[in-house]
This record gives sequence, C-alpha cells and structure tokens, in this order.
Amino acid sequence: MQNSFSESPLQKLEDELFHEKGIELYIKRDDLIHPHVQGNKWRKLKYNLQQARNNKQHTLLTFGGAYSNHIYATAAAARQFGFKAIGMIRGEEPAVKSATLQFAAEQGMELHYMSRETYRQKEDTTIIEILRMQMGEFYYVPEGGTNVFALQGVAEIISEIEIDFDYICTACGTGGTLAGLVAGLKGEKQVLGFSSLKGEDRLSGKVHELVEEYAGERFGDFSINFDYHFGGYAKVKPELIQFIKDFHRNHAIRLEPVYTGKLFYGLFDLIQRDYFPKDAKIIALHTGGLQGLTGFPELAELQNAKT
Ligand SMILES: *Cc1c(COP(=O)(O)O)cnc(C)c1O
Repeated sequence: MQNSFSESPLQKLEDELFHEKGIELYIKRDDLIHPHVQGNKWRKLKYNLQQARNNKQHTLLTFGGAYSNHIYATAAAARQFGFKAIGMIRGEEPAVKSATLQFAAEQGMELHYMSRETYRQKEDTTIIEILRMQMGEFYYVPEGGTNVFALQGVAEIISEIEIDFDYICTACGTGGTLAGLVAGLKGEKQVLGFSSLKGEDRLSGKVHELVEEYAGERFGDFSINFDYHFGGYAKVKPELIQFIKDFHRNHAIRLEPVYTGKLFYGLFDLIQRDYFPKDAKIIALHTGGLQGLTGFPELAELQNAKT
C-alpha cells in the first residue's frame, strides 16, 4: 500500500520568536506525502485499505461533509488501489458540487446524500445494515477514517522521527490522530492536541478509548487545548486568515483554516505566552488537508501556490 507515497520530511522552522524563547520547532511535513491522499488521512486509511483487502472487500463506504478532506483522500486512494468507493455525504444534494465533491466524483466515487438528521445516526448498526441492504457488501470506514486501524498508521509517524523531542502537537477533529500519536509514544513525551471544534468535553475520553482498544492500555501523556477553535468547526476570524497568509509569506508553507491554521496559530500563541519551558523541542504535525482551501475564497491566493 505504499507506491507513490513518500515518507514525509522533518523540517526545522526558523523564527525570531523561537530564538527569543529558546525553543526549537520542527514540522513533520505529512502534507508532502502525496498530492491528493495527504497527511493524516493517508495515515488513517493505509491499514484500513489493507484490512479491506484482507477481508476480500472491493468496495469502501464512508461518510463526510461537502468539503471533507477524508472524502477527498478516500476517493483518490480507492481509485489508486483499485477499490470502488461510496461516499455518504451530509446534507441535501447541492445544486452545484463543491470542488471537493467534484474531485471525488471524478475519481469515481459514487456519492449519496443523507439528511442531517439521518447523518447524525450514521454510526448506528441499523443504519449500516440498511446501507448494506441497499448497496451490497462494503468495507466500512468511519467518518474521518478514525478507528483502530487508523491508529496503527498514525503511530508510524513516531517511528519515522529520528530526533529527540519533548512535545508533539497536532490538530484534532475526531481525535484519531492524537490517539495514534499517543499509542505510538507509549507514554513517553507529551502529546498536545489543538481542537478545531468547540468544547468537546467527550474528546479526551474518546482518545483514551481508542488508545485502549489499540494498545490494550491507557496513557496519560496527552492534553487537548480548546482555546483556538475560533468559534467552532470550519469557523474562521480575520486574524486566523491573516496568520495563514503571513505564515505562507514567512515560511513558504501552506496551512488551511480548518485544522492546521488553528494548530499553528495556537502553538505560536502558547510559545509567546511561555507555555513551553526554555530549551523545549517541539514537533508540530502538518496533517495536510490543503484541498480544503477551496472552501475559503479569502485564501484563494494559496490554493494554487507551489509551496
Ligand atoms: C481530519 C483532519 C484532522 C483531524 O484529525 P482527527 O484524527 O480527526 O483528529 C486534522 N488535520 C487535518 C488537515 C485533517 O484533514
């Protein structure tokens, strides 16, 4: 399951702020893994695809919104590895498809739309059973790709990092990526998640459950920050948009506003506020998702930028 996917580089970021505070920041560039199957979405799909193949399944069925990085990545991965893909999309069928859905359809993903109400119950076994009756056999990939096989793929990030470090930071949605990092570290170092969603008090519990299911034990070496969601999922503010533009100008690295923009905004703010001790070595995971820029006209200049 590896062809045309490259290992991601670890890049040291230079910034006046880091010198001033005496810290070092490295970015694990998972955005560079593949042009379409980027970042944590590839990490989470990798062993799910293998599992589907082991189970002799030819069709993947998954869920997501009209701008979902997971839908986009699953459509591209399914095509590349020879699976049929079905995307169950939240909400009514739009008059005009988003760029994300357009791409998914071009990759051959079959799109079906679910009312928001039904979508909320999508994880009920009865809904999955009804879908099996309607669509035939499939390998079920949960929304965001988050399940126990996802953790195995994310945990591999840790084994690729060859330097010593104190903290590893990631953006959080479902918490699957955070859980994978925690599982990979087995209680060492500190894992810091930045939630892109508002006050999800259940998120820590979910991360614990995922880690336990995967590793057979719990590790307490993580925390989740909820101070930088900017009003909730896919919500933005002018200062976040400005930060992403400045970051691109200063570092030639693109971020998007749903996940990675919030992560780096929060991380820079915490560094500014002396959250990290002097001499701390921090790794920030660039989880990719750059296709999501198509949902933000105010960042159109970044959509087609080379770096
Ligand atoms: C999906 C996604 C996340 C969130 O990952 P979870 O495993 O759901 O917490 C973070 N960053 C990007 C770019 C994503 O696409």
